[in-house]
Amino acid sequence: MPAAPRHPREGERLASLHSYRVLHTGPDAALDALTRAAARALGTSTALISLVDEHRQLFTSASGVEHVLGPGVRQTPREESFCAHVVAAEEAIVVPDATADARFADLPMVTGPQHVRSYAGAPIIGRDGLPLGALCVMDRAPRELDTAAVQVLSELAGTVAELLELRRADAAAGLSGPDVLVDSHALRAGIDAGQLAVHYQPVVDLPSRRWLGVEALVRWDHPERGLLAPAEFLPLAEASGLVVPLGRQVLTLACTQVALWRAQGGAGGASADLHVAVNLSGRQLSEPDVAQVIADALTISGLPPEALVLELTETSLAAGGGDVDTALQRIRALGVELALDDFGTGYASFSYLQRFQPDVVKIDRCFVAALGRSERDDLLAASLVQLAQRLGCGVVAEGVETPEQAAALTALGVRHAQGYLFSAPRAVADLTGHLLARDPLPARG
Ligand code: C2E
Ligand code: MG
Ligand code: MG
Repeated sequence: MPAAPRHPREGERLASLHSYRVLHTGPDAALDALTRAAARALGTSTALISLVDEHRQLFTSASGVEHVLGPGVRQTPREESFCAHVVAAEEAIVVPDATADARFADLPMVTGPQHVRSYAGAPIIGRDGLPLGALCVMDRAPRELDTAAVQVLSELAGTVAELLELRRADAAAGLSGPDVLVDSHALRAGIDAGQLAVHYQPVVDLPSRRWLGVEALVRWDHPERGLLAPAEFLPLAEASGLVVPLGRQVLTLACTQVALWRAQGGAGGASADLHVAVNLSGRQLSEPDVAQVIADALTISGLPPEALVLELTETSLAAGGGDVDTALQRIRALGVELALDDFGTGYASFSYLQRFQPDVVKIDRCFVAALGRSERDDLLAASLVQLAQRLGCGVVAEGVETPEQAAALTALGVRHAQGYLFSAPRAVADLTGHLLARDPLPARG
């Protein structure tokens, strides 16, 4: 059997294919509809979308495969593939009778019990301009295909490429993957049904370990899947715009809870001057009434504005679009503080420091995790801290997990920190007792 040919830019082609992250995904209804349409339009028993990887071809979608390749066949070795030839040639191939074509006559699916006799495949060209695989039709009978039929196949292959592009964009936005929910109706219903819960992570004063405040972190108490972390539904909330009602609910819940803790602490009590940090997304920031929503949360809860910190990331500032600066001015005018979250992880940390002038900078946990690893890592963390301090910002270190990290941060002059060393985010019921009694918390929970 002759070796399957390679594409002239095979390395780049494989890198492009892998960037689609579609090789191991489950069934896809839209792709399946396309393969069915191809089989019907060309009058063949079988149509397949084959993605040609280094050593094998994988069928991401197959219609009628049981007629030709056998039930449940999802891949074959690359050397035994027709589609690898389409990929190498980067153009449609029509094989009216495989037994009479030296390139294919010895393929197991031709000589074996499958008896494939005819094949036609059109390349699926990705946005990078490189072929990912082929949309193909096969039959056990020999058959000619006219130019019009090949044209139909090529157009359908173009649509497959567009769909794969959408899948790639979804994957990049965190909207696909085994753990990611893609049902915005369920999220909408969950928000309306009060299934959002807010957990709170203490922010502590490093030298005294005294609680200064808490960060509010949203969870979704999903009726079937249990408590979900933000990574599992925030990308969907962002993409669908549901982050706006979600954010409003979190803000009101958090302000109300912290106002209650402050009141329970009594004047001068452990929690009387507690503050709360709430994360704000870019979508919320671009809502024209964002300042009013925040003002309403303060009014409803009775929380004084100076007890509220709004956390923004560079991503949310960049995605805020429109008139972010005006929105920030209005928010600041309420008397609340602004924090720059995940500092140092974005593309333009310094420019945001300049433009946004936060009251507080939160040093991302990746810098905390790297403390003590090398001189360069330590220097980088020290420089970030110094920069923020010299600009007059408060500094909070995120993700402190070990006593060594806490000591290193203290040596750098950082006073405020949060992290598993002090407490993981916890539900209200788990925190209230500790908070009011000023009990030190067990390290994790
Ligand atoms: P963030 O604002 O940077 O929050 C800190 C994240 O680090 C939280 O993850 C927290 O659980 C985690 N964390 C805290 N201490 C440690 C530690 O010592 N080690 C490690 N490895 N992780 C630690 P979580 O709760 O999963 O939240 C993830 C992100 O989701 C948050 O990052 C924030 O950007 C976003 N988020 C959470 N709640 C909301 C919300 O209500 N609205 C918006 N727009 N975003 C939210
Ligand atoms: Mg945050
Ligand atoms: Mg952060």
